[in-house]
Amino acid sequence: MQIEKDRVVSFHYRLADESGQPLEDSHSGDTVLYLHGHRNIIPGLEQALEGKTTGDTVEVTLPPERAYGLRRDNAVQRVPVKHLLQRPKQLRPGKVVQINTSEGAREAVVVKVGKFNIDVDTNHPLAGKTLCFTMEVTDVRAASDEEIAHGHAHGVGGHQH
Ligand code: ZN
Repeated sequence: MQIEKDRVVSFHYRLADESGQPLEDSHSGDTVLYLHGHRNIIPGLEQALEGKTTGDTVEVTLPPERAYGLRRDNAVQRVPVKHLLQRPKQLRPGKVVQINTSEGAREAVVVKVGKFNIDVDTNHPLAGKTLCFTMEVTDVRAASDEEIAHGHAHGVGGHQH
C-alpha cells in the first residue's frame, strides 16, 4: 500500500545534522506512527514519504526553513524554576527542559541557572539546523474512521487513548 492522505504510516528514522553528526535515532524505541496528510509531522517529511511503501528507505535533507525554523535572536527568557515541567536533577546550561507557556508546554535550552530563576533559549533545540533524515517505512495501512475524525493515528508510537 502506498503512502497517501488518510494512510497510517510507521517508520524508523535516523536524524543527523549537515556534518553527519547524529542527533536522534528511533531504533532504540518504537517506530513513529502518524496519520499522513494531517500535518502531524514536518511537512517536508510528509512530502518525501508521499507515494512510498513498506520497505522503502527515504533520505531527505531539510534546510531550517523547512524543518524547525531559523533561530530567533530575542528568544532568551528568564523563567522561575518552579515553572519547569519535569525538573531535571541537575540544571545546567545546555540541558533541554520543558517550560509552561501561554501556548502550552514547549522545549527550551538552559542558558544560565540562578537560585530561583533560569534563563532559557526558547528556540526549538533543532531550530537553525539543516536536518538530514533517513527514514525506513515499516508499515502502511488505511486509517480507521475514528483516526481520520481525530486527525491522528492510534496505537503504539501514536496516540493512545
Ligand atoms: Zn484519537
